[in-house]
Amino acid sequence: MKWISDFIELIFPRRCLVCGNILSSNEKSLCLNCLIALPVIEDRQKAEIEKLFWGIIPIERATSYIYYRKGSPYNKLLHNLKYKDRPQIGIDIAVNAATAINESGFFEGIDTIVAVPLSKKKLRKRGYNQCDYIAKGISQVTGIPITKECVARIKPNETQTHKTREERWKNVEGIFKVTDVQKLKDKHILLIDDVLTTGATIASCAKAIIAAGGKVSILTIAYSNNSPI
Ligand SMILES: [Zn+2]
Repeated sequence: MKWISDFIELIFPRRCLVCGNILSSNEKSLCLNCLIALPVIEDRQKAEIEKLFWGIIPIERATSYIYYRKGSPYNKLLHNLKYKDRPQIGIDIAVNAATAINESGFFEGIDTIVAVPLSKKKLRKRGYNQCDYIAKGISQVTGIPITKECVARIKPNETQTHKTREERWKNVEGIFKVTDVQKLKDKHILLIDDVLTTGATIASCAKAIIAAGGKVSILTIAYSNNSPI
């Protein structure tokens, strides 16, 4: 039914999320120019990310894909993914991320992918968990299977915006619970989230998995070392 999609595209052309230009049929979410100019994280930011967890929780590896700067037009990507009912963006951007990261050997030895869960209330409100879509894109490229229904968010976390680093870490204590130990025990799990800021939320989830006998590596789409998004 290609003619139907061609017809729909003619009336409602898909636009690049960053610059607004009309996308060609082989471009996904971003036009080629914006894709080439994507603010991929640099080595010093990679080092910062690994340091976030030092002395707090034993993480195997941690990385991210895009560097998030306040006011950057690229922030529209995750904004649309999270708040504008555009979950497909999660797959598109994760395919790019996994393709870029794959060469470094980051995915070696990883048994399964787990998306950081949303609280039931948030899931109902949004209708989908954006991290499930990111996990799908990573799995498509790497072939690593996804494990679902093994971790739950048992407490919604309050907004982290006006909290100090210490308060944020305290605020996320015990918000996740492993609901199926067998799925995670003795496995190396790649934990997926959309944005990494202080690392407190994802560390809390990792802590629950490690307590259940799993090893954890972390991958997020974006990293921001200024204010939370
Ligand atoms: Zn563009």
